[in-house]
Amino acid sequence: MTTHYKSLISAQDKEICLIDEGNSYNAITPPIVQSSLFSFKCFEDYRNYHLHKHQQYVYTRGNNPTTNVLEDKLARLEQGETCRVFASGMAAISAAIIGHLKTGDHIIFFNTIYAPTMIYAGFLERFGITHSYLRTNNLDELSSAIRSNTKMIYVESPGSLDIQVVDLRKLVKIAHEHNLLSVIDNTFATPLYQKPLTLGVDIVVHSCTKYIGGHADVMAGAVITSRKLMHDIDIYAFKLHGAVLSPHDSFLLIRGLRTMPARLEALQLLTAKVVEFLLNHPRVLKVNHPLAYNEEEKAIYWSQANGYTGLISFELDISDYTALARFIDGLITFHLGFSWGGYENLVMAPYVADDYEKIQVKGLKPNLVRISLGLLDSETIINDLEQALAKI
Ligand SMILES: *Cc1c(COP(=O)(O)O)cnc(C)c1O
Repeated sequence: MTTHYKSLISAQDKEICLIDEGNSYNAITPPIVQSSLFSFKCFEDYRNYHLHKHQQYVYTRGNNPTTNVLEDKLARLEQGETCRVFASGMAAISAAIIGHLKTGDHIIFFNTIYAPTMIYAGFLERFGITHSYLRTNNLDELSSAIRSNTKMIYVESPGSLDIQVVDLRKLVKIAHEHNLLSVIDNTFATPLYQKPLTLGVDIVVHSCTKYIGGHADVMAGAVITSRKLMHDIDIYAFKLHGAVLSPHDSFLLIRGLRTMPARLEALQLLTAKVVEFLLNHPRVLKVNHPLAYNEEEKAIYWSQANGYTGLISFELDISDYTALARFIDGLITFHLGFSWGGYENLVMAPYVADDYEKIQVKGLKPNLVRISLGLLDSETIINDLEQALAKI
């Protein structure tokens, strides 16, 4: 394999992450405007505001100066026209979907999708919105799943569980041919390494809880798209569902962005070493990560992304859960838990709800482990993985 280290975060993106427009106090960081409302100077302004002749901040469930700084940065990083941030990734995802679908519509989920997104899809059936879930990255299957009432294709690439890549240009072509909206969850690659709007995808969503926050201390989500496609998302799913981000959390994400390029560059070096270690370990059957793709997958990945992050999954050479438990409990520097993209090492095993045989029958991988690398030294991490693998 090629453990090529790619540091292709552009100077321009670094500038967007690090530098803010000036603010009224000449403060080096933007003020946290922790105010729910903004008052009008006089009745004339108040009246003109209602007549759309006067603009100003009015209410934080709409616009807030701190949050607007963050939204502006994320829109520019994704090269989109506009961004809205939400109180969680799920709030952003549900807003992007419900903002555009209505009773009778059908949505296709393509590639492995974040599990709560699929639970939400099931909930939407109550309102007469149906879905198909194609747990594959095979685009031929996508074409044949399109129905006359399909309105949207929702994809994760790479997926955040088995890290499989989707050819986004081909997906966009299929979406355009059938007049479908395309939505991507771009959380894995972050806007620094993949800009799906530039490939023709219509709407990008993020869980900012992961690398953008970067410190496991804030929950947030974002939608980035054109002004036209944002309209209904903004009016209904944002302002009326009301899951807006608090100004303080917007500040935490602005801070997260400042170190994100440096964190991700450090992670690239670290991840390359860990992937190489796993690929060469006799008890690891398969590694899922852009660095472990076959030639065809690599060609697709590097044509649409210019870097990778530190989320890796792999299959252990084991035949029961006791060995899985020995591995996970044997890890010293890894916390066992959900989420990813923070400074800390995390581990989880996705398929443990049934017994080992039942899960295999379902076509899931009971020996699959997912790790999110934090910012410890690569030697420390590899030594830890090595001693835990020796316990299985
Ligand atoms: C975590 C996650 C989400 C949901 O984000 P929250 O901030 O937890 O609501 C969505 N998509 C992916 C890929 C995630 O990992």
